[in-house]
Amino acid sequence: MVTGGNERSERMTLALDRHQELLSDDDEQIGLECPYCNVYSHMTPQSIPKAADVIETRPKHVGLVYQCDSCHAPVFLRFATKSFTDNRVELYRNFVELERPKERFAFSYLPKHTEVLFREALSCYSTNNFNAFASMCRRSASSAYAALGEGGKLRAFEEVMIAQDIAGIDDEAFAPIKSVLFDAGEEELLPLLNRVQAGILLEVMKDMLYQCFVRRGKLTRALKVRRFFVQEDNQDLASSA
Ligand SMILES: [Zn+2]
Repeated sequence: MVTGGNERSERMTLALDRHQELLSDDDEQIGLECPYCNVYSHMTPQSIPKAADVIETRPKHVGLVYQCDSCHAPVFLRFATKSFTDNRVELYRNFVELERPKERFAFSYLPKHTEVLFREALSCYSTNNFNAFASMCRRSASSAYAALGEGGKLRAFEEVMIAQDIAGIDDEAFAPIKSVLFDAGEEELLPLLNRVQAGILLEVMKDMLYQCFVRRGKLTRALKVRRFFVQEDNQDLASSA
């Protein structure tokens, strides 16, 4: 959530007051996923611009620093100003998070080349560069297909179709995602993605890489460990017999 899209903030009115500092309807707090501790927690206002200065200079945006109730880190949010009176500045309730939580993934299971590219893809996503993210997804996906070997792209395609089905995403919404991942055309022909589409692409991409690499890697590793312990037990039995 980059803007305060949750239900609470939709109803919230926020204002800077010359005499009372920060005002919000029925004292509702802002809640979001903290970029430091990744916990969804309430944010308490920590540093508020001086209303008198804002009223005088009438900036388009103001920055407020909140403190995460969970880890106490400072979280910087930017609000657009809505209206000014002699004593008060009303702010639009949607805010922009200047630092976003980092997207996580079990990178160690990916082929090296794919890992490098997908790390950069997630970094683009975390900084709201959704089309750079789409381009890097295309490159990550191509490298993944190559690593899977013959029939790899088809296998990945089947995984993505299953994901679409499980998630119940309609074909129209899914078309740009499919185009990014599977079209053979030049990168210049990639569709422009908005925030929502990029979010879908992110989850589909993570699922595809999980199914193609992480699942196999985890299972193989777990079975190796099991086999190791079975061998140890057999040796113990043999030596005690
Ligand atoms: Zn936190």
